[in-house]
Amino acid sequence: MADTYDIIVIGAGPAGYVAAIRGAQLGLKTACVERWMDADGKPVYGGTCLNVGCIPSKALLEATHKYHDAQHNYAGLGMTAKVSMNIGKLMEHKNSMVAKLTGGIAGLFKANGVTPVPGTGKLVSANLVEVTDAQGKVAQYKCQHAILASGSTPVQIPGLEFDGEHVVDSAGALAFDKVPQSLCIVGAGVIGLELGSVWSRLGSKVTLLEAVPDFLPMVDKDITKMVQRDLAKEGLDIQLGCKVSAAKVTGKGARAMVKVTYANAKGEATTTAFSKVVVAVGRCPVTDGLIDPSLDIKLDKRGFIEVDEQCRTAMPNVFAVGDIVRGPMLAHKGSEEGVMAVEVIAGQSTQVNYNTIPNVIYTCPEVAWVGKTAQELKDRETNSGTFPFSALGRAMANNDTRGMAKIIADKQTDQILGIHIYGQHAGELISQGVTAMEFSASAEDVALTMFAHPTMAEAVHEAALAVHGHAIHMVNRKR
Ligand code: FAD
Ligand code: NAD
Repeated sequence: MADTYDIIVIGAGPAGYVAAIRGAQLGLKTACVERWMDADGKPVYGGTCLNVGCIPSKALLEATHKYHDAQHNYAGLGMTAKVSMNIGKLMEHKNSMVAKLTGGIAGLFKANGVTPVPGTGKLVSANLVEVTDAQGKVAQYKCQHAILASGSTPVQIPGLEFDGEHVVDSAGALAFDKVPQSLCIVGAGVIGLELGSVWSRLGSKVTLLEAVPDFLPMVDKDITKMVQRDLAKEGLDIQLGCKVSAAKVTGKGARAMVKVTYANAKGEATTTAFSKVVVAVGRCPVTDGLIDPSLDIKLDKRGFIEVDEQCRTAMPNVFAVGDIVRGPMLAHKGSEEGVMAVEVIAGQSTQVNYNTIPNVIYTCPEVAWVGKTAQELKDRETNSGTFPFSALGRAMANNDTRGMAKIIADKQTDQILGIHIYGQHAGELISQGVTAMEFSASAEDVALTMFAHPTMAEAVHEAALAVHGHAIHMVNRKR
């Protein structure tokens, strides 16, 4: 029997590795089990987020945005630019960022005193974790507390099985070695729009086939139409209400094509050939083999581990955090849950505020929000204020006036219930919305706050002023 730990974390994604570091910071003897290995058999930290998610997708989004901007938008600023893209070099940049960051976690583990345990972890009893290493050797570790953080994996749909080459998941679409002439993305959700933007900017003809008839139903309805229009202008062909039934590879080598069969919104059967297909229809929790079936840990209908507000499972010393539990599948949500679980274990009073989780879709421009949308608040009495970037000096100076900021506040108390931004740097701007909501700010509080001029953030200020009908730089709606 090996050492006894205060905490054993299973999974070193953003939920697990952050929990492990926080545990060690609090003086708890902490180990982190991770099964992801590189080609040399060295453990890979950072999970989906660092390796095949947030970071590599943003590296590609940033580079392709610059490439696209130089080609299409510099003329308006008096510049002509001739740019070319070397996909190999772009992928090298992406891969080196990933290597730097995942290696950084190994350094942080060492500096903080987290014990890394390579292998596949399984909770076999309340205080025992079994780890099987790459050679099949099994070791057991005792623990006072366990934190399960095994993350998620792409959903597969029948008829469109991943083959790693022609029909791929998001990880495959982050690693194409050349631009596919045509690309079908099944699912116009967050991954579909971000990766669709990447390959469209590089010259691929991108078609998104989305099952539901509404576009981005989780985004405020005042914003979705603008996003759909702007993405269409960027070249994305977004088809809603489609039922995709099969993807069949025809031809070999460079001539291979994938024939996708689907029924469009009118129910008409269609077959179209594409160079590649990406299936991005959501992700599901990874719990296979994670917990001995005799243990009192329950999964909900969709396979997520059931936990309370503090991420405690039905077993009092076992917590579960990140993508394997309810709530949005977001890296920062998982990290905050990891910190909360450890601090609860350490006896601290702590809580994640699930009402103030920021969401960002990294399209161009970005879509960002915190709190509730107009459609979620339809039965509540609210005031809302909007301000278009087309009326903002800094947006005009930047030569991109797309989008708007919107604030929704309770009619009686004026407390802010939701902030929605569509525009350049919306992902950065939303942080101040999160701060405002975290402090239970009213729209008036934000209206009374001074914002630097000229900044994109002034749109948030004007939207707060507009909640009460006195935005300065536009004609206010009559109340
Ligand atoms: P994961 O990151 O999935 O990590 C789980 C880890 O556990 C993995 O390393 C896995 O190998 C390990 N593991 C699993 N089972 C075991 C076991 N039995 N034993 C040992 N180890 C095990 N989120 C954002 O907030 N912002 C973004 O911009 C963003 N972009 C994304 C882009 C893409 C293309 C994708 C796919 C996702 C993106 N996400 C983004 C979502 C984000 O990556 C996830 O929400 C986040 O990684 C979840 O963290 P996690 O720690 O719960 O799980
Ligand atoms: P998603 O839930 O955002 O989108 C999936 C889309 O696929 C939905 O619109 C859904 O209606 C559609 N769909 C489902 N079944 C379908 C079918 N059979 N045919 C056609 N369409 C179908 O999921 P995703 O884009 O796969 O992303 C997975 C998770 O990763 C999300 O929860 C997301 O939060 C996270 N993520 C976040 C970011 C970010 O924060 N910027 C980026 C990428 C991924």
